[in-house]
This record gives sequence, C-alpha cells and structure tokens, in this order.
Amino acid sequence: MTEAVDILIIGAGPVGMTLALALADGPYSVRLVDRRPLAAQAGDPRALALSHGARQLLEPLGAWPARAVTPIETIHISQKGGFGRSLIDHADYALPALGYVVRYRDLAGALATRLPEAAVLENAEVQEMTSGEAGVALTLSQNGERRRLAARVLVHAEGTPAEDATVSVRDYHQHAVIAEVTPQPGHHRQAWERFTPDGPLALLPLGEAYSVVFTLPPDRADRTMALDDAGFTAALQAQFGGRIAFSNPGPRSRFPLALRLREKLADGHQVWVGNAAQTLHPVSGQGFNLGLRDAWELAQTLLNQGLEPAALAAHAARRRIDRLGGALFTDGIVRAFSNDFPPLRLARGLGLLALDLCPPARHFVAKRMIWGARAWP
Ligand SMILES: Cc1cc2nc3c(=O)[nH]c(=O)nc-3n(C[C@H](O)[C@H](O)[C@H](O)COP(=O)(O)OP(=O)(O)OC[C@H]3O[C@@H](n4cnc5c(N)ncnc54)[C@H](O)[C@@H]3O)c2cc1C
Repeated sequence: MTEAVDILIIGAGPVGMTLALALADGPYSVRLVDRRPLAAQAGDPRALALSHGARQLLEPLGAWPARAVTPIETIHISQKGGFGRSLIDHADYALPALGYVVRYRDLAGALATRLPEAAVLENAEVQEMTSGEAGVALTLSQNGERRRLAARVLVHAEGTPAEDATVSVRDYHQHAVIAEVTPQPGHHRQAWERFTPDGPLALLPLGEAYSVVFTLPPDRADRTMALDDAGFTAALQAQFGGRIAFSNPGPRSRFPLALRLREKLADGHQVWVGNAAQTLHPVSGQGFNLGLRDAWELAQTLLNQGLEPAALAAHAARRRIDRLGGALFTDGIVRAFSNDFPPLRLARGLGLLALDLCPPARHFVAKRMIWGARAWP
C-alpha cells in the first residue's frame, strides 16, 4: 500500500514543525517524518535567541512559548583587548524587547503540542527515494517496518547536512562550548556579544542565568570541556573580564562550527529549509530565525501558488537575499573579529565606535537582526 500525501517534511525539528503548523489550516495533507522520537528533543542543550520578528511569526501559530522566554532589552557589543563598544537598546525601536531567549527543548515542546498526532511519523527514516513527474516516491523504515509514501512536494528539514557535493562548506576551526552560569549581579535582561581572538563569546539572559556560547579553537575547546567547574568559570572570567562574576556552571556541551550553504534551494519537487538549506555560525543568533522565515515563506508559497515545481523555484528565488545576507553577515563578523591582527583590531574598534555614535548605522544593523531581509532596504 502506498499512502499519498501532498507534502512530506523530513525532519521534525523546530523548522519542520513550524512549516507543518503553518500549513495546518490549508487544503493539503501534510506528514512530518523524524528519525527520532519527538521526546528526544528534550535532551538538546542549546538555548536560542529568537528575534522579535520570530515572535511575530510564532504567535499566530499558537506556538510562542511565552512562559519559557526571557526578554533581551539591551545588547552590549565589545572586543577583548581593544577599544570601542556599542549598545543596542529596545527602547530605540518601540519594541517590548529586541529578542527573547528560550531553551531549544521548550520551543520544540511548544511547537509539538500544536501538531496533530497523526501528522508525525516518529522513529522513521527514508530508505529509498525516487523523483518522478508527479512527485517523489519514498520507502520509509519505521520501527523496523517498511512503509511507502508518495508526495507531491518533499521538504528537507533534517538539519545540518552531512557531506554533500551541492553544499559548500567553510570550516571555522572553532567549536562552541555551551553551558548555563549564574551571574552576580543579575543580568538585567542584557545580552553580551564579546569578540575575542579565539572567537565570539555570547552571554544570553535565560531565567536567572546566562546561557553562554564560548567559542574556541578545537584544542582549547577540548581542554575547556575537561576543566572542573572552578576551572571553567575561571576560563570564562578570563575571556569576559571582571564586570560580572560567574558561578554554578551547569553541564557543558560542544558543537563544531562551519558555514554550510546549499547551492540550490529547490530541485523539481524537492525544497530545503532551515539548517538543511544553510547552517550558520551561531554568532548573533541568526540560524533558527532565518530557518523560521524559510518555513513561513514556503508555507505562504505552497498555500498561494500551489505545489508545482515552478512555485518551489519561485520560492527559492525569493529566499535568496535573506539567506545570503544571513550567511555573509555571520561569516563577515567571524572572519573580521576572530583574530588579533593590530590594524584590524583598530578598525574593529572604530567600527564599534561608529555604530555607537551613529544611530542610522546602528538601526540598520539592529533592524536586520530583528526582522531579517524583511526590513530591506
Ligand atoms: C551552539 C549553537 C547556538 C545557537 N544559537 C542560536 C541562536 O541563538 N539563535 C538562532 O536563531 N539560532 C541559533 N542556533 C542555530 C539553531 O540551533 C538552528 O538553526 C536550528 O536548530 C535549526 O533547526 P532545524 O529544524 O532546521 O534543524 P534541527 O534543529 O537540527 O532539527 C532537525 C531534525 O531533523 C531530524 N533528522 C535529521 N536527519 C534526519 C533524517 N535523515 N530523517 C528524518 N529525520 C531526520 C532530527 O532528528 C531533528 O529532529 C545555534 C546553533 C548552535 C550550534
């Protein structure tokens, strides 16, 4: 028996689930496939900074995890060992907050509770796939049983791609070590982005804690993972400086960092969204926010333009500026800031100073962080 569906989404991460929810009231039959049970997402250690624009997309879907988010009211940007700093303040944009920090698991939980149970095939993996004139035929293995499906549109939302000739890769030779720490005094809803020669260090307010993204070269990340708690807080303190005292570090995890950019977003009846389309460096928290816009815009395309390959190709063309903008923005920051070259340190200091003294420049950067390319020009 082959089950026919209009849209099959592979990957029930936050981007795949958002797409399924955005399509839920439309005319199409939609299935989500994940190789793990949804409950496995409770083990993801990441905290995500969501922009105000992300809130505007998630709220109408009933998937805004209001009780689990911590607002960011100001963002302090500086560099270690150099002058210049900039402060972005929510009050300048008449917004309740510049963004919000939430644990991946709480966001995934808020999305999952809105999904109809029958829409998700858990513990299921694609074994075979054939693309034809009318769509894509797939054989899945679910809990050891084979299952056949035919989809008019196949959406890839399975996260960061493995080796693939159609995905360009820039390895940053940096790893993100993440953990939660208690700040003294409290965080006052301020986030910090501190650039160091090793890589950016981000502190995101989360509940009473700071969620830390401590970026380091791989060998230093090895050593930092192996430190005891006192050693870890000392290393963090050395990188950040003395303005805030850190204590009580929670469990640590690490993620190797690279830019992965898929050349073609759409190919016949298939289309790619979220990390499967582009995986960015976490600096300035762009990845999920961009993936969310992928999902939202794809849903609008499918609902308004139908399921034919031409609609997918048009969607791919419309997403170009936003995704390339996100990739260039994060890549440019990482490369300009992750070094200790004195002329560049001077230029960075002048840049941060200009950002602070020149409101139009600051607003230009802030608006793109809040709304992405929707704020263009
Ligand atoms: C340290 C760190 C910090 C970050 N901070 C931020 C931040 O502050 N703000 C922000 O916007 N972004 C941030 N990001 C990026 C963000 O985590 C990702 O962009 C986001 O999780 C992508 O969601 P996704 O649904 O596309 O993929 P994923 O979250 O990876 O989900 C993919 C899903 O697909 C499933 N899957 C995988 N392969 C298959 C398969 N073959 N078959 C079936 N299912 C499959 C997986 O089980 C998973 O459920 C950060 C990333 C890192 C590493």
